[in-house]
Amino acid sequence: MSNKIQAIRGMNDLLPDQSAAWQYVERQLRSLVDRYDYREIRTPIVEQTALFARSIGEATDVVEKEMYTFDDRNGESLTLRPENTAAVVRAALEHGLLHNQTQRLWYMGPMFRYERPQKGRYRQFHQIGIEAYGMDGPDIDAEIILLSARLWRQLGMAEHVTLELNSLGSPAARANYRDALVAYFETHREVLDEDSLRRLTSNPLRILDSKNPAMADMLAGAPQLLEHLDDESREHFERLKATLDAAGVTYRINPRLVRGLDYYSRTVFEWTTTALGSQGTVCGGGRYDGLVEQLGGKPVPAIGFAIGLERLLLLLETLDLIPAEAQAGADAYLLAMGEQAELQALLLGERLRDALPDLQLQVHCGGGSFKSQIRRADRSGAHVALILGDDEIANGTLTLKPLRDNGEQQTLPLDDAIAWLGRQSGQA
Ligand code: ATP
Ligand code: MG
Repeated sequence: MSNKIQAIRGMNDLLPDQSAAWQYVERQLRSLVDRYDYREIRTPIVEQTALFARSIGEATDVVEKEMYTFDDRNGESLTLRPENTAAVVRAALEHGLLHNQTQRLWYMGPMFRYERPQKGRYRQFHQIGIEAYGMDGPDIDAEIILLSARLWRQLGMAEHVTLELNSLGSPAARANYRDALVAYFETHREVLDEDSLRRLTSNPLRILDSKNPAMADMLAGAPQLLEHLDDESREHFERLKATLDAAGVTYRINPRLVRGLDYYSRTVFEWTTTALGSQGTVCGGGRYDGLVEQLGGKPVPAIGFAIGLERLLLLLETLDLIPAEAQAGADAYLLAMGEQAELQALLLGERLRDALPDLQLQVHCGGGSFKSQIRRADRSGAHVALILGDDEIANGTLTLKPLRDNGEQQTLPLDDAIAWLGRQSGQA
């Protein structure tokens, strides 16, 4: 029996070899949201349990069985956020961000769900989300879909994802539809599995989501939500589709797309891929016009989406779309031979960083033979080793030894060496 403490199941360490790819994706995401002028909001990762129970819905998978809920020392029930929309609405209401104004917001960070861990499904995972408040027309729906489509193009993966689209209609239309659906399911009770029988009273729309092959035929014959839409939702949906058509965004209408959380209405969509097995949804979103009121505010229309970053990274890695330069190591590795040089190397390192703000430099620490220092320089991924010995100190020079190509080793006056490094790190 090992008594080493290990990470919690389903919660991953992100090791240095992986972080460059994450940073690459995060950079792409940040530049994208900037280009659309969305602004970042950061909320705590813990909220009162009631916030999620009231917004996501008591009868959803997330609230029924996926939340990390605990009592704090005062006996107050707290929950690690399973998603961030509820918290954004909470914060926006608390700080008056929704009063007679529109907001375009984004967030990025960890979410927590107690699920069975598997590829693409973890207990701590990360999302970036986009949320737009105060706009009720299909134009903003189209904007956030266009934003997501631009992201796939920017990352080079546009042909590997498909947009699925549906409308859930108004709450009233949904209630009508729910009745029709329950009536249909009642006449097919014998085909329903245990999960579906339970959902029949709590959340019958979710039965449509079932992947159980034994229910597939029955589900194919179920009444469709799109046939029960109210006139306004139908018009909204038609205008959204027309805008996407005009923008050249292709989509597939999926009448069974209902999304997991209760608060959605009208437009819902997902971007899916076939390259990740059953964890194929990379991005999911939709409109939640009733949520702000549900959480105690005046009604404010809203729409948003969330992208699962682990799935996005898995997909990019599977497709080999992480650019090599995103993985690169240091530009230079400074090593020192001789006692005097060892002391001088750190100081020279500082001087080089003053002169070359973009230089990525590692200074060798801990002494050792020339051979062992060169081996470390090589392992650092640096393009060039900078060698400081007693001769160099006496002459005010520095020796440059290229590590990745067959360039000549050369000893240059320090200023020339700095100029050379400046050209190497692209800032002559
Ligand atoms: P799924 O049907 O795969 O469980 P979901 O409908 O529960 O997804 P959302 O709540 O809409 O997912 O979250 C948006 C995105 O976050 C998902 O499309 C997915 O990419 C990602 N995601 C959700 N749950 C997890 C998880 N446990 N691990 C990793 N990523 C997740
Ligand atoms: Mg889920």
